[in-house]
Amino acid sequence: MAKIKRILVAGGAGFLGSHLCELLINRGHDVICVDNFFTSQKSNIESLLQRPNFELIRHDITLPLALEVDEIYNLACPAAPGHYQYNPIKTMKTSLLGAINLLELARESRAKILQASTSEVYGDPEVHPQREDYRGAVNPIGPRACYDEGKRAAETLFMDSYRMNLAQIRIARIFNTYGPRTHPFDGRVVSNFIRQALADEPITIFGDGSQTRSFCYYSDLVDALVRLMENEDGFIGPVNLGNPNEFTVLELGKLVWELLGKEPKFVFKELPVDDPCRRQPDITLAKEKLHWEPTVQLREGLAKTIEWFKTIDLDAFRAPTPNY
Ligand code: NAD
Ligand code: UDP
Repeated sequence: MAKIKRILVAGGAGFLGSHLCELLINRGHDVICVDNFFTSQKSNIESLLQRPNFELIRHDITLPLALEVDEIYNLACPAAPGHYQYNPIKTMKTSLLGAINLLELARESRAKILQASTSEVYGDPEVHPQREDYRGAVNPIGPRACYDEGKRAAETLFMDSYRMNLAQIRIARIFNTYGPRTHPFDGRVVSNFIRQALADEPITIFGDGSQTRSFCYYSDLVDALVRLMENEDGFIGPVNLGNPNEFTVLELGKLVWELLGKEPKFVFKELPVDDPCRRQPDITLAKEKLHWEPTVQLREGLAKTIEWFKTIDLDAFRAPTPNY
């Protein structure tokens, strides 16, 4: 029988974190979710609260934490531009102090620790598709820097801890991921488009909609995170995790209308500062080292996400920031 582990998921009440907690609980592990509920709410983990192998701790990872665990997944960080730009200094603190505190916890418990990094470490990339050895083009003084530079510095802290033999680390560079339990008011493109189209409002296209993203369904992504954590071949990353099928934002909008069987309506708004023009992961490394590639394509994943949006009561969601 596989060993039952004590696993801490920081940011475990969020979109990806709650799905990860669920997967780990279903595998029989003892899961401790740590979250300050900045961008999430209890409904994401409501069904897990009844499970005997699930515990919830309300805690902010910018403060130290003492626990005995075998593995730590660090997903705690606001991820949507409107959320991370709301209090940019707090965002930077969450990445930096959060990494320092959780790495210290990993050292004390001799736990493995995985950092949820991001495609934003590549900034507005000049190289396409992006491979892990590309060093990126981040504007260090722009409005996205609190997130991008925070995540880059967290990678540095993780790699230095590894080189100093202080912790067993893993680094995942996650590309745009979507699905049920995404915050409906997070301002991200998939949630905005579905919410707007369901309400028969025009979809807001920033710029001319020619910028691209590559969208991964949540179930593929959390599967990859667990594979990365559990691999025992000495592979620590950084590794790109995402779906390499690339779409323009306008194509995404058209697909949402098509899936709803409605006449497309668009309104064009100003492109945000430093919005990356193109983004597509090269996942050669993930295929080779983790034997992983996405299985759910955009049409199928979007249809499932739309079905989830139809079931939720938008009035029950607390918009964490006014920036959506
Ligand atoms: P999310 O906002 O739904 O989840 C983040 C969670 O972290 C929330 O529950 C939030 O309350 C919690 N949190 C924030 N600051 C905290 C703090 N100081 N202390 C404790 N908890 C805190 O976002 P998500 O999409 O689920 O993203 C999860 C992780 O994956 C993030 O680290 C994000 O940077 C990374 N990521 C996500 C994507 C994506 O497309 N979803 C892409 C790249 C990277
Ligand atoms: N976007 C858009 N309309 C919206 C929300 C986002 O056109 O209502 C665009 C945004 O400018 C970006 C892309 O969609 O080019 C993805 O944005 P998101 O905030 O989801 O993620 P990120 O920029 O972090 O990849």
